[in-house]
Amino acid sequence: MKTLYDFTLEELQNEVKPSFRAKQIYNWIYKKYATSYDEMKNIPKNLKVELEEKYPMDICKIIRIEESSDGTKKYLFQYKDGKTAEAVLLLMKEKQKDENGNITKSEQYTFCISSQVGCKVGCTFCLTAKGGFVRNLTPGEIVTQISYLKKDNNIAENKSVNLVYMGMGEPLDNFDNVVKAIKIISEEDGLSISTRRQTISTSGISTKIAKLGKLNLGVQLAISLHAVDDGLRSELIPMNKAYNIQSIIDAVREFPIDTRKKVMFEYLVIKDKNDDTKSADKLVKLLNGIDAKVNLIYFNPFPGTTYERPSKNSMMRFQEYLLNKKVICTIRESKGIDISAACGQLKEKEQNGNS
Ligand code: SAH
Ligand code: SF4
Repeated sequence: MKTLYDFTLEELQNEVKPSFRAKQIYNWIYKKYATSYDEMKNIPKNLKVELEEKYPMDICKIIRIEESSDGTKKYLFQYKDGKTAEAVLLLMKEKQKDENGNITKSEQYTFCISSQVGCKVGCTFCLTAKGGFVRNLTPGEIVTQISYLKKDNNIAENKSVNLVYMGMGEPLDNFDNVVKAIKIISEEDGLSISTRRQTISTSGISTKIAKLGKLNLGVQLAISLHAVDDGLRSELIPMNKAYNIQSIIDAVREFPIDTRKKVMFEYLVIKDKNDDTKSADKLVKLLNGIDAKVNLIYFNPFPGTTYERPSKNSMMRFQEYLLNKKVICTIRESKGIDISAACGQLKEKEQNGNS
């Protein structure tokens, strides 16, 4: 069933008459964060009744929030069919230039949002994969993660937010719904989060990277690379057998990227698997000629996994190797480590009935 959150502004303008009502409704849900038709004071009652019947707004609720001492908050959303997905709010420092050209650092929100309940890709290091694939999220279910997080944290409508599609699921495996969500989220009369502030993270479905590139939406790209040879990458990400490293690199080279931005390569570091200097060297060679930045991620262990977290020393060594070869490389801070750090872990807790 289509819900009110599944409409681009243009679609809503075609649906409600007179069409200026569409902007008013958009204003209510995406600027004032209304979650029911009742709250829309300037919309005629009969229109609200009609819309409520056709396009419900009551599509999700937040059933759990965990807050970490560093300000990270994990939200668990539940949808009408009882399925759950999570979104995370991260507080980061971002460099900004003031009117005198001085660089200042200000607090910046980043929302990490889910695109599916579960995931089909089946990465052996990922907790989300363990539960298998359940279903795609609808555009509205993706969009409401953002409006609900803004509302819950009293974030002003015009405060810019960064979005990363790095929660549960493989965004390019839910292509149409994610593209629709990107459009709704970037509507100026709505949440107004520019596509430049939206980053799609993918495990590397090369054909879909090419398809996304052709749409020229202006979104940023993050590739979950994690390994530099196909043998290990296929162990970590079984789909690599169909879409190998070279096919991903080729797709990235074709992808239209904002000239001020770089393609991010995520590299999950696992002790004694991919943390050696030889891998670092291969990575440098692989990225040769690509405007890339590498983000190293500590593997976050969970019960039942045989993989181990790398030492801080090996992370630093890996980073230094890349920096020496002039490859931009950061180490992802383990935000929210005291709550339920890696992707999928909040949901896991809920299912186990822990509190
Ligand atoms: N499916 C997409 C986006 C969601 S996964 C993708 O794979 O890119 C988002 C990130 O969570 C990925 O970069 C992945 O490497 C990371 N992740 C998954 N399991 C993890 C774990 N156990 N420890 C640390 N990061 C993990
Ligand atoms: Fe899916 Fe990403 Fe997890 Fe792999 S890491 S199973 S692609 S969510």
